Amino acid sequence: MPSEFDIIRQYFIFENTRADVVLGIGDDAAILNVPENHELIQSVDTLVAGVHFPIETPAEDIAYKALAVNLSDMAAMGAEPAWLTLAITLPNDDEVWLKKFSESLSSIAKKYNVQLVGGDTTHGPLCISITINGFVEKGKALTRSNAQVGDRVYVSGTIGDAALALAAWQGECLLTDSSVEHLNRRLNRPIPQVELGLLLREYASACIDISDGLLADLEHITIASNVGAKINFKDIPLSNEFHSNLTDEELIIPLVLSGGDDYELCFTLPKEKQCDFNSRILELGISVSCIGEIESKSGVRCLLNNKEVNIQELGFQHF
Ligand code: ADP
Ligand code: MG
Repeated sequence: MPSEFDIIRQYFIFENTRADVVLGIGDDAAILNVPENHELIQSVDTLVAGVHFPIETPAEDIAYKALAVNLSDMAAMGAEPAWLTLAITLPNDDEVWLKKFSESLSSIAKKYNVQLVGGDTTHGPLCISITINGFVEKGKALTRSNAQVGDRVYVSGTIGDAALALAAWQGECLLTDSSVEHLNRRLNRPIPQVELGLLLREYASACIDISDGLLADLEHITIASNVGAKINFKDIPLSNEFHSNLTDEELIIPLVLSGGDDYELCFTLPKEKQCDFNSRILELGISVSCIGEIESKSGVRCLLNNKEVNIQELGFQHF
């Protein structure tokens, strides 16, 4: 049976790809070099088996998502992700599982140029906690608190795919053959919008990543900024795969407005920056959609066919 140290050495020491890691795994702590005139941006997310993902989720999906959701927080702050630590609690020393987990984590870390610089390995019910660190030039980080009346509200990508995949997984609906792969990928392999987050430092007044649901997360922006927002349901981008499963508005609305897990960005932009922003977005090939506007009246309202969607009826809850 491998010792804790064997596990660390075999599965959690990845090739170092970053010059700013002065000392990585192996000592009592890591030593990291934050570039001059930059601020450290740090966030942690914990995934508990049976709570945040089904126990039978493949190890490679767990590893991918654990890091992807953390990278998404960096994107929402406009930060350049750099280093992560991993606190992992393992129920056993299943080396097949560990190998898959390790390869998947290493591969996504490499893709986003983030280095695993330390962690903690313990025994108990499966739980993965990743702390991500990144940096932004001093004073340039995006926050939730600076949306201004008249700013336009945007989202990236498409909304509701992950919630639909989750509903299908829970047996609430069946997915069409042609859409099932795409939708499951949206749930298990969300793509963190890191590149968009970096661009938004020049344009956005506020930004958040959509983890709890579009309305809930936009509401976080409005509360932090002391404003309100009005969005148009018809402007919310939905994927073809989503549409191929659902046409009934009564079913679509709750998934799109309060389903979570998309890890797209929701952000606000001064009106006069829209034109310049749109051309940069086109150059980069990133998809974004303007879905509404910030207003002074508090709360988030969603309009459909000139009527306000009754959010209470959706079972929408404040967190
Ligand atoms: P200590 O007893 O001083 O806390 P550990 O024995 O827990 O140290 O860890 C030894 C080294 O291995 C440390 O550098 C630690 O950051 C690293 N480490 C432990 N577990 C992990 C893990 N799951 N992933 C990455 N690094 C780890
Ligand atoms: Mg120590």
